[in-house]
Amino acid sequence: MKQKIKESPYKTATKFDVCTHLQPILKVLEANGNVADRLTGIICDKGDGNILLVEKDIDFNLLEAYFELPNFIMINEQKNRIVCSKCWCSIEKKVLGKKFNTSQKIIY
Ligand SMILES: [Zn+2]
Repeated sequence: MKQKIKESPYKTATKFDVCTHLQPILKVLEANGNVADRLTGIICDKGDGNILLVEKDIDFNLLEAYFELPNFIMINEQKNRIVCSKCWCSIEKKVLGKKFNTSQKIIY
């Protein structure tokens, strides 16, 4: 049976972890070979919210097999990105040289 993402209230990302809605998603991605960029940590982008980068393509088929995604979780396959619109938090594939609206350093 597919796992449901619980619709808990807004809870922002911490310095090192995505919001509670994206945590189970990240767990499944990592259990299946993707790697979160914990050296860079959560990027706090002034326009785009909190972003955690992952090193590999996000496997959307895998996520659809595991989860019944609520509509506040938005998938963007072109941008290799999953966004929680409730918390303005996302998981995104790391792309070399991509600029973020932040003074934080992205570690490659
Ligand atoms: Zn969330």
